[in-house]
Amino acid sequence: MTRAPALFLGHGSPREALREGDAARGWIDAARRSPRPRAILCISAHWECKGVLVTRNPVQRTIHDFYRMPDELYAIEYAPPGDPALAYRIEAMLEPFRARADLDSWGLDHGAWSVLRFMYPQADVPTLQLSLDVRRTPADHFAIARSLRPLRDEGVMIVGSGNIVHNLRVERPRGDAIYPWAQAFDDAVVDRLAAGDHAALLDWRRLPGADEAVPESEHYLPLLYTLGAAHEDERPRVFNRSIEGAVSMTCAAFGES
Ligand code: ZN
Repeated sequence: MTRAPALFLGHGSPREALREGDAARGWIDAARRSPRPRAILCISAHWECKGVLVTRNPVQRTIHDFYRMPDELYAIEYAPPGDPALAYRIEAMLEPFRARADLDSWGLDHGAWSVLRFMYPQADVPTLQLSLDVRRTPADHFAIARSLRPLRDEGVMIVGSGNIVHNLRVERPRGDAIYPWAQAFDDAVVDRLAAGDHAALLDWRRLPGADEAVPESEHYLPLLYTLGAAHEDERPRVFNRSIEGAVSMTCAAFGES
């Protein structure tokens, strides 16, 4: 079995799910660079709860977790099979974190399906989601992912879906302008990724521009899952580098074959 990659995918507004834009072309290319995975485990910015939960639904349901969007978006269904046996194994692997294989409280949110529907449009790869436990420290998130890393050797692709820069509190800059703090933070993260400097990425608040680039951590934390699932000797391929408004679409892929 070929080792599956660990990806971090910068997702856009739910509207991006309606058309195959530049970002989607980068995600599709990433899917094509590796053999089809046996399963996908996705950690999305949009499932925060108290506890480490993994979906054990036999078939995943599509969660339309957004408001005042076009009707076509609510009509999108992306319902791949789950893998209850794998969910129970993950529960066991994450026993020190008191993880639970959960039936039906979640499915796939738009952080997951808005990218996966382009990568695997047939929705035929078993897909699970793992929650972000709001009570955990960055080091805990990293450690959870490290415990899951062996799954990659069984062909399970680990996908963190969030954004390196994500600030919806500020106005979108005019035209193609980019906030200097957004560029500075994105550059710093890419630099630390290339250097394999996990410690700096776990302590992201010290990187330039962090206060404005990461006002809340939920869109950044999926990156720590991708990092935790990476091996020390794997250096990422960084792609989709662009900043739209105050959201970075930058992606990183570790262990592509
Ligand atoms: Zn999001």
